[in-house]
Amino acid sequence: MTTTPKFQYKCNDCGATYNPLEIQYMCPECNKKNTANQPPKGVLKTIYDYESIKQQTFDSLKSRGFLDLLPIKNSESLPNLAIGQTPLYTLDKIDNEETEGTILIKDDAQNPTFSYKDRASAIVSAYAKEQEINTIVTASTGNAGSSLAGICAAQGQQGIIMVPASAPVAKLTQILMYGATLIPVDGTYDDAFDLSIKATEELGWYNRNTGFNPLTIEGKKTVAFELYEQMGYQAPDRIFVPVGDGVIISGVYKGFEDLLKLGLIEKMPTIVAVQSTGSDNIARNLSNSEFVVKQSNTIADSISVDIPRNYHMAKNFITSYNGEAIAIEDNEILEASYKLSKNTGVFAEPAAAAAFGGLLHYKKHSKLDKGSKNVVLLTGSGLKDLKAVQKMIQIPAPIMPNIDNLKKIYHD
Ligand SMILES: *Cc1c(COP(=O)(O)O)cnc(C)c1O
Ligand SMILES: [Zn+2]
Repeated sequence: MTTTPKFQYKCNDCGATYNPLEIQYMCPECNKKNTANQPPKGVLKTIYDYESIKQQTFDSLKSRGFLDLLPIKNSESLPNLAIGQTPLYTLDKIDNEETEGTILIKDDAQNPTFSYKDRASAIVSAYAKEQEINTIVTASTGNAGSSLAGICAAQGQQGIIMVPASAPVAKLTQILMYGATLIPVDGTYDDAFDLSIKATEELGWYNRNTGFNPLTIEGKKTVAFELYEQMGYQAPDRIFVPVGDGVIISGVYKGFEDLLKLGLIEKMPTIVAVQSTGSDNIARNLSNSEFVVKQSNTIADSISVDIPRNYHMAKNFITSYNGEAIAIEDNEILEASYKLSKNTGVFAEPAAAAAFGGLLHYKKHSKLDKGSKNVVLLTGSGLKDLKAVQKMIQIPAPIMPNIDNLKKIYHD
């Protein structure tokens, strides 16, 4: 007996469609022509039968865990961890200053391994479980790896994680504590990426790589459904998204695109891709016909990417839905990180703080419309990279613990 899958894949670049029972990763036609120093073409988009799903209300879709819009068969395949459904906070003032529009903070560091990546790992892991695959490999700048490691731990699966040796120690620690196999490579994230693909080809390990496995986009889109509900069944006006490989931003677009296709929203929100000027390979190339690589150098390790793996899809989304892109300096990212923590009680890692830095940039240039609703997507916890913010703080020298001494130092 054969079952027809409820979704199919469509190539972002040539438009060919594929049956997911036959093709798991990239469009074979486009992938054949890919070369090492250019962003790959052939990332697949997951397409559902929107006309029939349209018959249901949002609430009925939600009551089934959005299973109709996910590439898995059963919600029970998901890990028994609280993934997604993260809080959305309203920020009235920044440093006691009113802002023109409303600012909303979506805190995805609240996921089990403290980053947005859990949304993707959960779907990939559930899919693997349904296919009775037990070993999953990923290349990672740190968070995708710590996420996959944690999700595999919850699912009794084996995670194999390849990272550049320079990844922040907290992320490496997580990977080991979750019991995954850690393979640091003497090289960059791009080197780790290539090695993991070879491992998949030659050793058969299921591959979670971002911009390679199309299911990561489907996992990452779920934030759109949450925002839609949290904002009272409407989309925000703007969303600031930190961008490295361009998968999170494509996920956010894909989620809202699903809602558009279901007739639940009428207009795509304006999505702002935020990068570091030290790693701006998407923002800088948007209006170029040829991709020109610049070597990355930024404190924001999670968005430090030379060849963005999902460049073409991200560019496609940004251009077809009138998105925007900016790059900000590393010192602006650090200042944004401090400002965010101090004003909200939410401590974000540099890549995530970049999104807030993007918003501050818009605010400074009066680009937040009056009455507009602006979401900042915070993708990872500040505890993941303490070293990055060391120059922002100074831990005071200890004092002798008596009250007179205290009064002398803190006299007001
Ligand atoms: C992975 C990651 C990003 C960037 O996502 P891409 O899909 O690579 O664009 C941003 N912030 C954090 C914290 C991340 O872990
Ligand atoms: Zn193709």
